[in-house]
Amino acid sequence: MKIASRLLAARRTAEIQPFVVMDVLARAHQLEAAGRRVIHMEIGEPDFSAPAPVVQAAVRALRDGRTAYTATLGLPALREAIAAHYACRFSTRISPERIAVTAGASGGLLLTLALYVNPGDEILVPDPGYPGYRHMVRAFEGVARPLNVSPASGFQPTLEMVRASWGRRTKGLLIGSPSNPTGTRIAKTELDDIARFVESRGGVLIVDEIYQGLVYADKGGAVAASTALGLPGEVAVVNSFSKYFCMTGWRLGWVVLPLSKDNARMRAFEKLAQHLFICAPSVAQHAALACFLPATLKILERRRIEFQRRRDFLVPALERAGLGVPARPTGAFYAYAACPGDRADGRRFALELLEREGVASTPGIDFGSNAARGYVRFAYTCGMADLEEAARRIGKFTASRLASGRPGAAAIRPRGGAGARASARGARARRAP
Ligand code: PLP
Repeated sequence: MKIASRLLAARRTAEIQPFVVMDVLARAHQLEAAGRRVIHMEIGEPDFSAPAPVVQAAVRALRDGRTAYTATLGLPALREAIAAHYACRFSTRISPERIAVTAGASGGLLLTLALYVNPGDEILVPDPGYPGYRHMVRAFEGVARPLNVSPASGFQPTLEMVRASWGRRTKGLLIGSPSNPTGTRIAKTELDDIARFVESRGGVLIVDEIYQGLVYADKGGAVAASTALGLPGEVAVVNSFSKYFCMTGWRLGWVVLPLSKDNARMRAFEKLAQHLFICAPSVAQHAALACFLPATLKILERRRIEFQRRRDFLVPALERAGLGVPARPTGAFYAYAACPGDRADGRRFALELLEREGVASTPGIDFGSNAARGYVRFAYTCGMADLEEAARRIGKFTASRLASGRPGAAAIRPRGGAGARASARGARARRAP
C-alpha cells in the first residue's frame, strides 16, 4: 500500500506563525548551559509567584480533595467574588451570571471568538498586537484584519481607523488595553466612541483587560485601572489571573459577556466550554477565591508599585542607550523600543544583544508586520539589580555597534536629552580606534 506523503495537518496550521522569541529563548538556554549569565527580558510573565494567601488556599484545596471537575462556568463562589471585585474596584455592578471562569485569558479568548466568529467573518485587530488574537481568529476560520496602529495614537486604535477599516464582512474589533507589546492604554473617550460606532454597525467589541490592574502613574500622580464594562453595545471583556495576580501557570481567567435576553449568549458560551474545556482547573479556582482578600490585594499593590519603579528606570535607560520608546508605557510590564539605526532589524538586534551581552528580548516581528521589524520588546520582569545590569549591557552593546560603524549603526542617535548625548559622546570617545 502506498503511504500518502501529503501533509495531513489542516491548512490553517500553515498560516499560524511560530514565535521568533522561541529562537531567542533556545539560544539563551544554550548560553546558560555553557555558563553564561543571561538576563531574561523576553518572557511576558511576572517574576513574582502567586501571593501566599493564594498558595495556602491551593494547599488546603488539595488536602481536602477539592480536585474534581467544577461547574463548566466556574465555581459559583468565584463568579460572585469576581462580580464583587468589579463592584468594589470599579463601581461597576454586574451579575455573576454574566461571568464565566475560563482556562486563562487564552481559554476566554478562544471561547469568545468561537461564540462570535463565523467562517469568513473579519475581526479587526491592532498591529502591533498580541499575536494570539490573529491566530485564534484564524483558528475559527475568521479573518484577522490588521489595524496599523502607531505611536501617534499610543499604538492604540482610533475611531477613525476603525471606521476606515470596517467593511461588509467585519464582525467586530478585538483590542488589548493595556497592550502587549506596547504597554499603552486606550483613552476612555476614544474607546467610548469606538464602542458606539461598533454598536451602530451591529458588531462586537472584545476587550482584553488581562493587564488591567497593572497601570502606572507619572510624576507621583494617581492612576486608576478602568474597565470597558458599561460601554454601550455588544461588549465582551476578557481577563485573567495570570498577570496582576501573578498566576500564569495556574491557567485561570474569566470572561464577562454582554447582557442578553434569557442570558442566551452565556448559554451558547457554556455549550462551547462544556465540549472544549469541561471546566477551568479546579484547584486554581479554589485558590483564586483568596485573590480578592484584602491581604492579597495589599501584596499585589506593592508589586504594582515595584513594576512602576522598574518602568521609571528602564524607559530612560533605553533612551540613553539610543533606543526610542515613542509611546510611553503606562501599563503591563513592557517597553516597546525602536532599535537604533534607519534600517534596524529587531530580530538581528535581539539575537546579537543576547549573543554579545546576554540580554534576552523579543523581536517586534512577533507582534505583527506594521513597522515591527525595527522594534524589540523588553519585559521588566526582573528585579532592579538585574534591570540595572541589563541597562548597562544594552548601553555597552549599542555603543559598540555605533563605534564599529556597521550598516545602520551610524544612525544611532541617543534620544534621552543632555545626559544621553553626553553618554553617547563618552561611548564614542572610549571606543574610537
Ligand atoms: N492576552 C494578552 C495581551 C497576553 O499578553 C497574554 C499572555 O501573555 C494572554 C492574553 C494569554 O494569557 P493567559 O495566561 O491568561 O492565557
